[in-house]
Amino acid sequence: MTTHERPLDSVLETIGETPLVRIHDGPAEVPVYAKLESFNPGASVKDRIGRYMLERMLERGELGAGGTVIEPTAGNTGIGLAIAAGQLGLDAIFVVPERFSVEKQQLMAALGAEIINTPTADGMGGAIDRAHELADELDNAVVPQQFANPLNTEAHYAMTGPEIYDALDDEVGAIVAGCGTAGTLMGIARYGREQDTETYVAAVEPEGSLYGEFLGEHREEGAYKIEGIGTHNTDTNELFESDLVDDVYAVSDERAHDELRRLAAEEGHLVASSASAACVAAKHVAREIAAGEIDAPYESVVTVFPDSSERYLSKGIYRSFDEWDN
Ligand code: PMP
Repeated sequence: MTTHERPLDSVLETIGETPLVRIHDGPAEVPVYAKLESFNPGASVKDRIGRYMLERMLERGELGAGGTVIEPTAGNTGIGLAIAAGQLGLDAIFVVPERFSVEKQQLMAALGAEIINTPTADGMGGAIDRAHELADELDNAVVPQQFANPLNTEAHYAMTGPEIYDALDDEVGAIVAGCGTAGTLMGIARYGREQDTETYVAAVEPEGSLYGEFLGEHREEGAYKIEGIGTHNTDTNELFESDLVDDVYAVSDERAHDELRRLAAEEGHLVASSASAACVAAKHVAREIAAGEIDAPYESVVTVFPDSSERYLSKGIYRSFDEWDN
């Protein structure tokens, strides 16, 4: 963690270099490691793309000094973009479907952003349309559009992937991560496949989400409580690259809820449902590697814990499964 040993000039420099920690509930012979992204200043993986996308867009002249960033976002990306926008002298407006956590919306506002809510029923598609309408009305405004922006994947290819490989001396057998935009998984997977073409890659989605259809699997669309991953409309997830993915695992709300409680009680990880769903799938992959049912170049599995449970306490994340509200 060389970058954090000396005093830093700005909060932006604290982004990345997060710890990779062993998960102790997997098979002994195939360790599972989780990258703890709540260690970022905005407490999620999305601080990485907030900084990376805005710095590149400013460098390329796609956004002028003092411009406005408008983004449809479930919250974490808004927080990441709001931190970066504030430090880079930009304004920020976020379009958030109503169903997402109020905590996230309060944090975005505290960071100086304006929040616009769209109806839950219009989904992420409704938020995306509204963001583009707003950008058309303003001068010097951009919609980074994390669901379609290659800079999202590139941020993880440039930072998250190399950090994981450095921590494990390049001996990574499998990469298992949840897909919201899919930027996190695609960036790490692209980096990993360049290190070893045999690296096993698995995406994780909630039961009821349609990511599996990218690999030709049948999926029943349905509602789910797991927050931050999954898709109801594969047309909006432009970053998912099927040739980088071996399998897509669907995890039930109930399984994710059990696991997030177990991770806190047994291992001290205060993580939310997208992390626990990824952990369920990562342990499954580790068991399959141990049993010789999945071929991987090394006996290790890496997953990502995107954020912290503290952001979801108002939704009853640690109450009983029935009281966990959506
Ligand atoms: N978990 C949470 C809590 C998130 O907010 C997100 C981003 N939507 C993800 C996981 C998924 O990350 P990505 O968008 O890179 O697939």
